[in-house]
Amino acid sequence: MIFDAKHEMIRKLVRQFAETELTTEVLDKVEETGEFPEEIVEKMAKCGFLGLKIPREYGGAGADTLAYIIMIEEIARVSAVASLYANTPNSLGGGPLMQAGTPEQLEKYLRPSVENKVKIVFGLTEPGAGSDSASMVTTAVKDGDYYILNGRKCFISGAPLADYCIVYAKTDMTRGNKGISAFIVDMKAPGVSCGKHEAKMGLVGYATSDVVLEDVRVHKSDMLGKENMGFINAMKTLDGGRLGVSAQSIGLAQGCLDEAIKYSKERIQFGKPICKNQAIAFMLADMATKLTAAKELVYMAAQMKDKNDPNASMYCSMAKYFASETCNEIAAKAVQIHGGYGYIKEYPVERKYRDCRVFTIYEGTSQVQQMVISGNLLK
Ligand SMILES: Cc1cc2nc3c(=O)[nH]c(=O)nc-3n(C[C@H](O)[C@H](O)[C@H](O)COP(=O)(O)OP(=O)(O)OC[C@H]3O[C@@H](n4cnc5c(N)ncnc54)[C@H](O)[C@@H]3O)c2cc1C
Repeated sequence: MIFDAKHEMIRKLVRQFAETELTTEVLDKVEETGEFPEEIVEKMAKCGFLGLKIPREYGGAGADTLAYIIMIEEIARVSAVASLYANTPNSLGGGPLMQAGTPEQLEKYLRPSVENKVKIVFGLTEPGAGSDSASMVTTAVKDGDYYILNGRKCFISGAPLADYCIVYAKTDMTRGNKGISAFIVDMKAPGVSCGKHEAKMGLVGYATSDVVLEDVRVHKSDMLGKENMGFINAMKTLDGGRLGVSAQSIGLAQGCLDEAIKYSKERIQFGKPICKNQAIAFMLADMATKLTAAKELVYMAAQMKDKNDPNASMYCSMAKYFASETCNEIAAKAVQIHGGYGYIKEYPVERKYRDCRVFTIYEGTSQVQQMVISGNLLK
């Protein structure tokens, strides 16, 4: 992939930002406290990261998908958790609004999310509806100008910090995925509460919890898109979201490869740097080759999406599937090259290894991506 000057410039700017702001000291503190510094999120907003792919008329930068990928990639190279803060308004938070929001809704919710004045999260998954999200049981029953929502969403990234949650609920229990609608739910509305913060393996510093809805009244003006059209909204949002996870994967994998190369040149055993052993050098060669292949697939899927290619959805799934699996392989090898030190928190590969484990799980597991890809091949 040959990037044009604009994309190279974005890469340079974001890399500089990530390396300056996301210091070891800052990132260690995030792990220790579980809290991410809001002033860094503010700075990201000021740099335009939170709205990079959001149209200019709603305060965004209106950049293309490739620019967005580069931004997430470069942040995730240094910190996966920081990349989530930059990603959400462009992806799971802003995505459903960009798909279906009215001009009033976009002005009221999208613009402030770009400016980091509000945080919006995405509530699709339920305890009984993960991969099979259409089997959700959260209900939205019409009552005059309002809908009354009842149910429980789980694993909602950012919920404890959020001002609004895009909640998908059944408006017609008899119609499966054609009976789902999307609602913008105020997290401070009566009847809305969060479950406990999940203690996660990685991505510490971005709180995840259940969102519980008990007789929550949502005005019809906060329904997103048409009634019973919510599933399409969620699926289209996830198409874009999958590219975000792909970008996190190639970024984090590059971070692991960088660390592994550096360490293998420094570490002496048997009187020479460990990289002088072909077993280690070839491992690095494999990591770099697979990472390059993953990157090309991700960049290609991003360009196909911008061109509205009819196969873009399949390629977004391929990109997410291949990049996240490859990232996990590379992170594991990077730990191996570090030997015992790779298992110690002082070395960045330990955190990266834990952080990337979820990449093959959230926004559609690898098996769900295989279902999407094979479904496209066999239709
Ligand atoms: C840290 C984190 C953050 C998350 N953030 C959000 C969020 O912000 N919003 C949100 O809505 N959700 C979020 N999720 C939920 C996430 O998208 C789901 O966990 C994921 O889609 C898988 O659902 P599940 O956990 O119920 O697993 P299940 O669907 O129960 O799957 C279990 C296993 O079975 C496999 N499987 C299931 N069905 C099939 C099949 N037909 N064929 C083959 N294999 C199959 C799966 O691939 C998986 O390996 C998050 C999850 C995590 C862990």
